[in-house]
Amino acid sequence: MTLIKSINPYTGELLAEFHPLSEKEIEEKLSAGSVAFSTWKETGFLRRAELMNNAAKVLKDRREKYAKIISLEMGKVIKESLAEVDKCALVCEYYGEKSAEFLQAEDINLPEGKKAKVIHQPLGAILAVMPWNFPFWQVFRFAAPTLMAGNVGVLKHASNVPQCSLAIQEVFTEAGFPAGVFQSLLIDSEATTKLIEDDRIKAVTLTGSEKAGASVASAAGKQIKKSLLELGGSDPFIVLKDSDLKKAAETAVKARMINFGQSCIAAKRFIIEEDIYDDFLTIFVDQLSKLKEGDPMDESSDFACMARPDLAEELYSQVDKSVKAGATLLFGGEKPEKDSARFQPTILTDIPTAAPAYSEELFGPVATIFKVKNEADAIAMANDSEFGLGASIWSEDKEKAEQLASKIESGAVFINSMVASNPHLPFGGVKKSGYGRELSRYGILEFVNSKTVYLG
Ligand code: NAP
Repeated sequence: MTLIKSINPYTGELLAEFHPLSEKEIEEKLSAGSVAFSTWKETGFLRRAELMNNAAKVLKDRREKYAKIISLEMGKVIKESLAEVDKCALVCEYYGEKSAEFLQAEDINLPEGKKAKVIHQPLGAILAVMPWNFPFWQVFRFAAPTLMAGNVGVLKHASNVPQCSLAIQEVFTEAGFPAGVFQSLLIDSEATTKLIEDDRIKAVTLTGSEKAGASVASAAGKQIKKSLLELGGSDPFIVLKDSDLKKAAETAVKARMINFGQSCIAAKRFIIEEDIYDDFLTIFVDQLSKLKEGDPMDESSDFACMARPDLAEELYSQVDKSVKAGATLLFGGEKPEKDSARFQPTILTDIPTAAPAYSEELFGPVATIFKVKNEADAIAMANDSEFGLGASIWSEDKEKAEQLASKIESGAVFINSMVASNPHLPFGGVKKSGYGRELSRYGILEFVNSKTVYLG
């Protein structure tokens, strides 16, 4: 059986290794989840909220410890890991406060004086298949609403972040959640498919690549189980000539470089009106050059490395093929050393449609910059993608920006701001970026049975 390894991608050091759970251990966990569900679904919102606030407190009390695990295991710089842990505490508090209101029964007055109501009831055990890029946040944005709704959670985390997976389990245990309400399972993809087939798993949510999403959703579909998919993106960042150019270009660099570019909602395609194209590039290159490379544990580092050497190799191959197809390499672009996760921030321009950089997701610090004649061309180019997660549009004419926002095929559009997830706002994609929504009231309603009760 292949061991699950925790490796520091910055140094290549093996930090820990774990045996995947045996079939017997998986069975024990599933059975514990079923037992827990029978009482957890009857537990009132007040008690659930108390425990969720405890989870927030555990996260706050141990923020340095958890941030260190994140940085060591997937190479994120420590200041971003600390911010990630803080955001997890926030989402626990948010759903602790809001869930009772979000899930209260809705009265419906029918014609002729008849009445009905809709009640929102939990489904049971929900499986979450999660990625390594925000190894705490992705899990908490699933777990906080799912548990508050009265479901129990089962986590299959990415294989390169087993210590994060166990640390998250620790948060819920320390917060006082009954055994079985949240369980981290160290398992591989094959065991995940078997889990989906098990009657005790009622639905599945996956955040990750299209390939994994298609596989998990097919397995769920075969069992007539609901799935929610948060997949990749190649988000446009449109800068119009009437924008605050300096602010737009500076934010553009942040939006591309967050999490060293390994974010589904990182801006990936910069679409710039031709009148301001050269000025945008000048500021973008200047800002990018100022970022400091260094050890992920050093608080002054702006970036360190990608999460695994194979990811750096794959990203380089996309850049290399794009240059061979005719794209201009404006910045960076050096080949990573063998077996190294380090990568130089890179800018590509003049990208032909046949280049991988035109159509594929670039999941790392590579910016693609496109020049367009006018607004109509900007929107057409933004929509010329199989993805549709979050877009950003920059113009001082807010009314016009809002009109253009409605024409962009994506799950969200942020005007004069970079795209960011926020507990108050629904989050999710269209097209090959997935389906369903997380966060806000929309998120908690994904895994409940909204049951009609006709009262007559
Ligand atoms: P990934 O390879 O798809 O892995 C994601 C998770 O799926 C991991 O737990 C992985 O487990 C599991 N998995 C992979 N293949 C599977 C299969 N056939 N059956 C069951 N489980 C399977 O993705 P990644 O490289 O970690 O993450 C990068 C991708 O995620 C990017 O495309 C990014 O845009 C997307 N993403 C989307 C969002 C969003 O909210 N929309 C957020 C973050 C990331 P193993 O590690 O064991 O393979």
